Amino acid sequence: MSLVKVNEHIYMVDVEVAGARNFIASYILRGEKTIIVETGPISSVYNLIHGLEELGVKPEEVAYVAVSHIHLDHGGGVGPLLRRFPKAKVVVHERGAPHLANPERLWQQAQSVLGPIAEIYGKPEPVPMDRIVAAHDGMTLDADGVTLKVLETVGHAPHHLSFYEPLSNGIFTGDSAGIYLNEIGVIVPTTPAPFRLDMALAALEKMASLKPSTLYYTHFGKAEKALEKLQFYAKQLKLWASIAKETLEKGEGLDEMRKKVLEQDEAVRKALEYVKAHRVFSEKSLVGSMFGIFEYVKNFGFQA
Ligand SMILES: [Zn+2]
Repeated sequence: MSLVKVNEHIYMVDVEVAGARNFIASYILRGEKTIIVETGPISSVYNLIHGLEELGVKPEEVAYVAVSHIHLDHGGGVGPLLRRFPKAKVVVHERGAPHLANPERLWQQAQSVLGPIAEIYGKPEPVPMDRIVAAHDGMTLDADGVTLKVLETVGHAPHHLSFYEPLSNGIFTGDSAGIYLNEIGVIVPTTPAPFRLDMALAALEKMASLKPSTLYYTHFGKAEKALEKLQFYAKQLKLWASIAKETLEKGEGLDEMRKKVLEQDEAVRKALEYVKAHRVFSEKSLVGSMFGIFEYVKNFGFQA
């Protein structure tokens, strides 16, 4: 676990799932009360709890645990955190709320989509309904001195949220702005099926319209030049979609799309090199993202 102060009132914990550094971040916002953004998976949540202890956060101090969405690497650790922090409520998109209360289907889906990675992340615990805040766009989370504004940013998942933080003019992006491999300075898509490109692009515009200066990626870390990065990601998604379109028009499949993406997207070439030595992130996830865009274009079409 490493705890880094990333701003006057914001700390980042690298939860180091399965020992993988620079891959999953949780954030701790400290006002009079405390807000946690993203829990990481349940298997590494004790690293986050150690970070909170290191900061001296008292059990009754945590007001909210805000999760961008319920996927295991973002909200999987909610259960142990709520037990540890008895006054905290988990903030999740209303469509995600039932799956926090009863994670069985989520767990089954994660196993079929992620395979052995699901076991690395671990099975989430059910969360009591009365600890869940079903959030909607525009809602403000107030921790006396720090606030977060809820932004509905669906596309990656139909229940995805991002959180705008006014003091640093920053956005906690979850998976709505892609994966930022901070060690090599590269952004790659996270667009597994059923991905909605139209909604994801609308979400990127919505975030860009706030003119943020900082992004706080879950994968991974704080990054400046926020607008540039949001615009880059939108362009990258459109490039992949036009490649998918061309592939489909020729009657070709995912393999062909993969080849063309590699030819045309330098970021992905660098990422593929980088993931070779990675314990959790893999070429399979990148190809899964290509499949998500391929399926979207097949079902909904795409106009460049
Ligand atoms: Zn993720």
